[in-house]
Amino acid sequence: MKASKRISTLNAAGSDGWEILYAARDMRRAGQTVLDLTVGDHDRITPDLILDEMIGSARGGHTGYADVAGIPALRDAIAARVEARTGVPTHRENVLVTPGGQAGLFGSFMATLDPGDTALFIDPHYATYPGTIRAASGISHSIAARPEAGFQPEMRDLESAPEAKVLLMNTPNNPTGVVYSAATMNTLAGFAKARDLWVISDEVYDGQVWEGAHISMRALPEMAERTLVVGSLSKSHVMTGSRLGWVVGPAGIVSHLANLATNTTYGVPGYIQDAAVVALVEGDGIEAELTATYRARRDLALKVVAGFNGITAVPSAGAMYVMLDIRSTAMSGREFAARLIDAHDIAVMPGESFGAAAAGHLRIALTRDACTLETALRTLARFAEEIRDAA
Ligand code: PMP
Repeated sequence: MKASKRISTLNAAGSDGWEILYAARDMRRAGQTVLDLTVGDHDRITPDLILDEMIGSARGGHTGYADVAGIPALRDAIAARVEARTGVPTHRENVLVTPGGQAGLFGSFMATLDPGDTALFIDPHYATYPGTIRAASGISHSIAARPEAGFQPEMRDLESAPEAKVLLMNTPNNPTGVVYSAATMNTLAGFAKARDLWVISDEVYDGQVWEGAHISMRALPEMAERTLVVGSLSKSHVMTGSRLGWVVGPAGIVSHLANLATNTTYGVPGYIQDAAVVALVEGDGIEAELTATYRARRDLALKVVAGFNGITAVPSAGAMYVMLDIRSTAMSGREFAARLIDAHDIAVMPGESFGAAAAGHLRIALTRDACTLETALRTLARFAEEIRDAA
């Protein structure tokens, strides 16, 4: 029996781009030590304040079906957070709770694309984007942001895009760590309005900003009516495994999304939602401390890399990653990452896993303590110097 075209073509290139991560896992299973700086997952567990609520809620009986669109207290807490951060009036009806930001992305495409419609997205991009668009029977089309422009997409990059229904964007950006400037945001908003596009704005890193300020697409003039913002507690409150995210947008489309949830996920467990309320209402200290940790690691990473010749760092202004430009080695990111894990047992993501625009780069997740990170970056940088000098 044959699987559907939709599902069998999710990974268009026949690969999901995570080979180095799988290699690192195999090495670990074989008893080897390997330093894994691939995935954006924290080197700590969900804080007690949140876990205690989760366990208490489950023991207290919130283990049955919960409100599919999200419990009212959580929808209100998300609305309050979004309104406080963006100034855009936001109510319960504007919020759908989803099992992680990833399900929010999928729902957003389902809500805005008909089969065969095109969704544009900016390259470099979070690894799942093209597959998520295809999962919703859309056609994915990438628009390259150039390293010379600091990976900020410009009008000349957008102009030649084909006709489309949706523009997907992500700031602070994974993998580059770039935070889109006011000029970039205005360019993207102007483009979306001129082309009458929905904007799906992935803002899961909105609290992790090291330089400048995060601007939400929904806060720009006349954008709230055409923007769906995807958010998540994965990165802000150490809740990656709890799968708690949301979509914020116009009430009409949110009610369609709730309908989709009824027919797909059937919502998020009640005890996770209760814990999410506590995270949002009482967890500012958790978020602040976590953010300060990543900021310190980012500062350290940029300082260490600045002392070497073979590589340069893209000046990460947000998100828990630093992207390194290794083009002086004349190697692809893929080849470099494969050689690095072989020679030094350090696993990093090749830029190519995040699109052609990130070729010749590596993405480092800042997910180890400062000392380990510094040693790994020094090893990596010396390796790059050796390769460059031998060339
Ligand atoms: N968007 C971006 C840019 C991400 O980096 C991630 C996770 N790495 C997600 C969405 C999905 O996050 P989650 O489903 O854990 O909320």
